[in-house]
Amino acid sequence: MTQGFDTLAIHAGTAPDAATGARQVPIYQTTAYVFRDSDHAAKLFNLQEVGYIYSRLTNPTVSALANRVAALEGGAGAVACSSGHAAQLMALFPLMAPGCNVVASTKLYGGTIQQFTNTIRKFGWSAKLVDFDDPKAIAAAIDDNTRALFCETICNPGGAISDLDAIARVANHAGLPLIVDNTTATPYLCRPIEHGATLVVHSATKYLTGNGTVTGGIVVDSGKFDWSASGKFPSLSEPEPAYHGLTFHAALGAMAFTFHSIAVGLRDLGMTMNPQGAHYTLMGIETLSLRMQRHVENAQTVAEWLEADPRVEFVTYPGLKSSPYHSLAKMIVPKGAGGLFTFAMKGGYDACVKFVDNLKLFSHVANLGDTRSLVIHSASTTHRQLSDEQRVAAGAGPNVVRLSIGIEDVRDIIADLDQALTAATA
Ligand SMILES: *Cc1c(COP(=O)(O)O)cnc(C)c1O
Repeated sequence: MTQGFDTLAIHAGTAPDAATGARQVPIYQTTAYVFRDSDHAAKLFNLQEVGYIYSRLTNPTVSALANRVAALEGGAGAVACSSGHAAQLMALFPLMAPGCNVVASTKLYGGTIQQFTNTIRKFGWSAKLVDFDDPKAIAAAIDDNTRALFCETICNPGGAISDLDAIARVANHAGLPLIVDNTTATPYLCRPIEHGATLVVHSATKYLTGNGTVTGGIVVDSGKFDWSASGKFPSLSEPEPAYHGLTFHAALGAMAFTFHSIAVGLRDLGMTMNPQGAHYTLMGIETLSLRMQRHVENAQTVAEWLEADPRVEFVTYPGLKSSPYHSLAKMIVPKGAGGLFTFAMKGGYDACVKFVDNLKLFSHVANLGDTRSLVIHSASTTHRQLSDEQRVAAGAGPNVVRLSIGIEDVRDIIADLDQALTAATA
């Protein structure tokens, strides 16, 4: 990293607009770009010259965002797409083929478990979910058809941290790429590539944008994985029939994954980010460090306050000394354990519903990573369709509430929790 993180968050990927001098990145609200002549057009389509063709593939505002996040994560390249879930599919797409599987952590965002256990089966892919706290279990789950490992840095709904270094050692030993969903940590708290990750995916919907205005996703490639070593990644290491026989790894080296994701992934799957969304996320990232500092400071204070409250059964924040992930948090996210955690109330399901309904500052929403404090009672919402047993296993038991702590005055956050706890347990 040449410049400091806070400098890159404001400057990386963007220079004053060449045409107008505009200091902010313009929102290039255009579908297509005029070719200088037919020769120029042919070179662009052959990837002999880098430039803009059509905004399903690339757009200057969207590219600025991708380049900024690549710089913040310390990657070689990145591709922005329409949502976090799109980013996950875009990460798997160049690696997988029918019959292949991804070995993934059981502790994942609920939507990812759904995508991995059901939807990707339609492509002939599958996921094996195992306990990523146990490197031996990961190694045992890997077979000849495994093409990637997948986990989250700070596991949603909070409370667990992945030992990225240990997991990357298993991936290395098996010659497989490690994909890390870094949504809840952001590159401010953790840069997974420094811990051995090959690809980093983000839901830009959350902390990167930071204010609940955008649905977006990013895939960052470290540029360090040797796609040609094992013969397991023919889309990158062999002539790609989907792109007139181009051998991406041989032709593009460390940028092979990124170019394939644009030239084939975005071209044919079409999960493109729009320039307006990219603009909002660029604006959000300018204040990422400041916001994350406040998110973790407030979360730590609120978690400690809740843990000391007799109306509370337990709190799962890894920043607490009582957390089994406390020492791991110090290694993986030394600046703070994120802004997301769950706690359990004494009093069960009914008290939880009352608690959520009595909160005034907190918003009851299915989102996280907003400047505003957010709450959700998983058992009555996101995990409603599961059995009681499944809910408890997923960390969403009847008396468990998930908080995404915002950057408001922490005294107001605590006062709101206090009055709602009183109303719920009266
Ligand atoms: C929200 C989220 C996703 C999915 O992102 P979308 O932008 O909603 O598609 C994936 N992983 C994690 C950890 C998330 O919090």
